[in-house]
Amino acid sequence: MQSGEMRDLVILGSGPAGLTAAIYSARADLRPLVLEGEPSSSSDQPGGQLMLTTEVENFPGFAHGVLGPELMVSMRAQAERFGAEILTERASRVDLGSTPIGIWIGDRDAPEPTLRARVLIIATGARSLMLGIENEARLLGYGVSTCATCDGFFFRDKRIIVVGGGDSALEEALFLTKFGDSVTIVHRRKELRASKIMQDRAFRTDKIAFRWDSVVVDVLGDQRVTGLLVKDVTTGEESVLPADGVFVAIGHVPSSELFAGQLETDEAGYLVTREGPRTNVPGVFACGDVQDHVYRQAVTAAGSGCMAAIEAERYLSLLAQT
Ligand code: NAP
Repeated sequence: MQSGEMRDLVILGSGPAGLTAAIYSARADLRPLVLEGEPSSSSDQPGGQLMLTTEVENFPGFAHGVLGPELMVSMRAQAERFGAEILTERASRVDLGSTPIGIWIGDRDAPEPTLRARVLIIATGARSLMLGIENEARLLGYGVSTCATCDGFFFRDKRIIVVGGGDSALEEALFLTKFGDSVTIVHRRKELRASKIMQDRAFRTDKIAFRWDSVVVDVLGDQRVTGLLVKDVTTGEESVLPADGVFVAIGHVPSSELFAGQLETDEAGYLVTREGPRTNVPGVFACGDVQDHVYRQAVTAAGSGCMAAIEAERYLSLLAQT
């Protein structure tokens, strides 16, 4: 790639939203360039959150399920088959005020952008907030999960713990009662942050128990989760809660930092889109979890990636006519 290279379409992100946008736009002959991100040990890596999941059973078309990483490798190959170019790079800075848009890779202080694009599709996703405990990362996919909709089915008749006290935690816990033998919510305070309606629902559900004023000290288990070591913050006493599954639901953060001050966001940092994938800057479209804190599913992300690609194509056609 030459410095300052001009592209019709650049896509940031390579989860289901970014790669679906790449498949559609490549088939429309837009020759998209995808910056897929760089491999990292954190929960933010090429392929997005599905790379951290084991079996995906709810993506349509896979009657017998598919491994999350396998699905993403397949989507990537499908995009490449139609001519999408995929770079294992991360944008370090964008200038959405310039026409065409400036995109930097590497040195964000370089005077000139690495790339210029007529249209940008942002599909940088969101990351689950994690507790930051070493064994939590090691056992992710082996009893530790961040998605009840994705993984709840694997915990039928098992002992489940949900960590967190907000709407996400309660929603996950209520969903997991369909599967688990027991669902215990471990919360660091005595009061929930969740909305009253969700609290009422959780308190009315027999299967849900609460462990108040408790912080997680460690996730236990060799090959798979066997329990949590928790500490009562009022007494300092530590105890083991046996469990087969631990769902961490302490919030998500959209990966929108790169666009701060340039794109409209809501108070939680999610990009605001209108009329489908349009942001407040013409020619900049957003799809997937970076603009969706409600559904957050692979299939909805893929659907919004398709919408972004169609809008990008229309936008480029209009540009060509002017
Ligand atoms: P949230 O409201 O920020 O709640 C996060 C919860 O995790 C809080 O209870 C917090 O404890 C706890 N927490 C944070 N960091 C922690 C840590 N390091 N260790 C232990 N606990 C920790 O996040 P959310 O539940 O994901 O909700 C985000 C937004 O989406 C909210 O506006 C929510 O209403 C909305 N949402 C709505 C629905 C719904 O309406 N059905 C469903 C999901 C989300 P503290 O309370 O002590 O701070």
